Amino acid sequence: MGQVSLINGYLAIKKDLTLMAYASAMLQITERSMTDGESNPQAYDTLSGSLRELEANLLNPLIILWVFELYLLKRIGFWLNPFPCPVCGSNSAVLGANNYLLLDEGSVCCTTCDPENRPKSWISGESVSILRLLSSGKRHYLENLNPTERVMREITQGIEKFLNYHHQSIGELTALKLLDKLE
Ligand SMILES: [Zn+2]
Repeated sequence: MGQVSLINGYLAIKKDLTLMAYASAMLQITERSMTDGESNPQAYDTLSGSLRELEANLLNPLIILWVFELYLLKRIGFWLNPFPCPVCGSNSAVLGANNYLLLDEGSVCCTTCDPENRPKSWISGESVSILRLLSSGKRHYLENLNPTERVMREITQGIEKFLNYHHQSIGELTALKLLDKLE
């Protein structure tokens, strides 16, 4: 299935510049996540599911983008799993004001554990809690999410850093840069 057939329909998206920017970002990520000539039906399934969510316009489009990115990454082999601590193995790493997001493993470290010299980035406990809801896959959690500005920035940047760490060719998403200018 090619991208042309995939984007037939979707009238709500086509009429709304913001939704269109999010849809473009998803298309861009999907395209760049594939190596030349390789087709990945699972990635297209993820993409079309997320485009249908955007079209329905019932959830915050940023949340739809986050879920899309997390699922796509998982499907191409990079799972950002915010549950077990990579050092002590505790299934719900104790959160504090600031926590380490480990970019190599895609995990969140307990505040008391030391990830030493591994590539990492700071993320607030509030953002980790939201990441946990996102990765639970339960839609009713997503409907009630109302992330603060700080959380929106942190999760967007955290996912982007993880994405870039594992897949540098994905690089900067021009569709999302456009969105910054609109807001
Ligand atoms: Zn730990």
